Amino acid sequence: MSLANYVSGEWRKGAGSGEPLIDPVTGDELVRISSQGLDVEMALEFARSQGGQALRKLTYRERADLLTKIADVLAANRDEYFRISLLNAGTTESDASFDVDGAVFTTKYYAKIGRALAEGKMLKEGTLIPLSKTNSFAGQHFLLPAKGVAVFINAFNFPAWGFCEKAAPALLAGVPVVVKPASPTAWLTQRMVEDIVKAGILPVGAVSVICGSARDLLDHVREGDTVSFTGSAETAMRIRSHPNVLRRSVRVNIEADSINSAILGPEVALATDIFDLLVKEVVREMTLKAGQKCTAIRRVLVPRQHLQAVGEAICSQLGSLKVGNPRNPEVKMGPVVNKAQQASCVEGLRRLKEECSVLFGGDERFQPIDADPAKSAFVQPTLLACKNGRNAKFVHDVEVFGPAATLVAYDGQDDLIAMVRCGLGSLVASVFSNDPGFIQNVILGIGDMHGRTMVVDSTVGSQHTGHGNVMPSCLHGGPGRAGGGEELAGLRALLLYHRRFVVQGPPNCLTELARLSVDASLLYS
Ligand code: NAP
Repeated sequence: MSLANYVSGEWRKGAGSGEPLIDPVTGDELVRISSQGLDVEMALEFARSQGGQALRKLTYRERADLLTKIADVLAANRDEYFRISLLNAGTTESDASFDVDGAVFTTKYYAKIGRALAEGKMLKEGTLIPLSKTNSFAGQHFLLPAKGVAVFINAFNFPAWGFCEKAAPALLAGVPVVVKPASPTAWLTQRMVEDIVKAGILPVGAVSVICGSARDLLDHVREGDTVSFTGSAETAMRIRSHPNVLRRSVRVNIEADSINSAILGPEVALATDIFDLLVKEVVREMTLKAGQKCTAIRRVLVPRQHLQAVGEAICSQLGSLKVGNPRNPEVKMGPVVNKAQQASCVEGLRRLKEECSVLFGGDERFQPIDADPAKSAFVQPTLLACKNGRNAKFVHDVEVFGPAATLVAYDGQDDLIAMVRCGLGSLVASVFSNDPGFIQNVILGIGDMHGRTMVVDSTVGSQHTGHGNVMPSCLHGGPGRAGGGEELAGLRALLLYHRRFVVQGPPNCLTELARLSVDASLLYS
C-alpha cells in the first residue's frame, strides 16, 4: 500500500515504487511513501493563496475554535494512532501516549488560550509613540500574520506531537501549514492530516502533508514563508544555509539535537528523596521512547564521591527492565526506529566507550524479548561513566539518540559549570538539590546556554513535570548546538508567524488601526 500526499487540496500518490516504512520489531514492510513527481511549488502557492486567505478571514477566536475541533477529531482516533505508532515505531503504550496524547493536549491548550485573543485581525504592540511636538504625527508597532505558508520539516521521533506543537500556533496565527514528516515514521502524521481533512474542519489549503524526501521543498519557499525544522544539527545546517532561504531571507526556526544534562547537588546524601528522584528521572529519560527524545538526559553530572553509588542505583533499575517486543505486556522498552538509527547508536556508543567505562549494557549482540535481533532494531540500555570529563571530547559532543547516558564526575561548582557548558548549547538541564546557593550559582552559570532549566528540591518532590517533558506553556528550544530556535511558550509561539512593523502617521489613523488589533501584551500574560 502506498500512502497519498495531500497537496493543493487533493490526495495524490507520488510516482515510482517509493520508500518502504518498516516495523522495527519484525522488519516487515508496512506501507510505502513517495513525494516524487509532486508539484511542490504549486502546493506551496495553493496553501498561500487558498488556505492562507481563508484563514485570515477568521478572527483569532474563530481559529481557536477550529483547533478545538481538530483536538476532538484527534482524540477520537487515538486508538488508531497508537496502532500505527506500535507498528511503525515499535512504541510501548507509554511511548505512544507521550507522542499522541501530548499532541492532543498541546492542540487543546492552544485552542483554550487562543480564545483570549478574541476578535482581532492583528496584534498591536505597545502604545502610541509621539513623533512631533504638536502630536500630529506618531508611531505605532503592529504584528501582522504573515501571508506566507508555514513549512514544517520534522524529525522521526515525534510524528504526532511534532506536527501539532507547530501546527497549533501557526493555524491560530492564521498561517496555512505544509508538513513534511520524517520519512521513517511519516505514516502517523499522514493519518492525522487525513482525519483532519476528512472532518472538513479547516478551509481547503490550510493543511497539506508531503510524505517522502521532497528535497526540492526549500527551492520554493518565499519571503513571507516560515520554515520550522526539527532534526539533527547536521541537517539544520543545510536548511539554514540553503541558497533560496538565504536569498529571500526566509524566516527559519531550528530545533536541533542536544547533549542535555542532569545535575546532582554536592550536598545530596545517598538514599535521600533528591538522590532517588534523580535516579528515577535518569532511568525514565533513558528508556521512554527508547531514549529517542531531543530533551533526554545524555550527561548526568554527579559529585565525584557519589559516582559509584549513583551508578549502582541506576544499574539496579535498568537490570530489572524488560526490553523487547512491545506487544509483550511485560516489556517496558521497545526498539529504536530502524536499523540505521540502531547502527548510529552503536557507532556513537563505540566512540563514548573510548573515554568512558561501561557500567551497564553496551552489548552489541543484545537479545531482546520476543524479537529476532537480525530483523529488529534494538539497542540495549547503556550507562557509561566518565571520570575525567574536563578532558573528554565525545561525552560532550556525541548524541547517542537512543537509550544511553553517561555519568560524569565533577569536583566543585566551577568544574561542573565548565563541563555543562561544553555541550555548547542545550535544550534542558535539570538540577536536583536542596541548596539554594548552589542552585542559583548553577543557573547563573549555565542559564544562557539552555532553553530550559528545571530545579527539583524536596518541596517539589515528584510533582515536577519531567526533565524531558515539553510543556506548551513554557519555552522549548535552546541556543547554539540546540539550534537557536524558540517554540511554544504559550502565545509567544505566535510571534514566529507574525511580522512586526511600525506605522508612522496621524494618531487618529493609528488609533483606527489599533481598533482592528488585539493587544500583543496578551502574548506574555
Ligand atoms: P534528520 O535526519 O536531521 O531529519 C529531520 C528532517 O529533515 C526529516 O524530515 C528529513 O527528511 C529532513 N531532511 C533531511 N535532509 C534534508 C535536506 N537536505 N533538506 C531538507 N530536509 C531534509 O533528523 P531525524 O533523524 O529525523 O531526527 C533525529 C534528530 O532530531 C536528533 O538529533 C534529535 O536530537 C533531533 N530532535 C530535536 C528536537 C528538538 O525539538 N530540538 C526534537 C526531536 C528531535 P527524511 O526523513 O525524508 O530524510
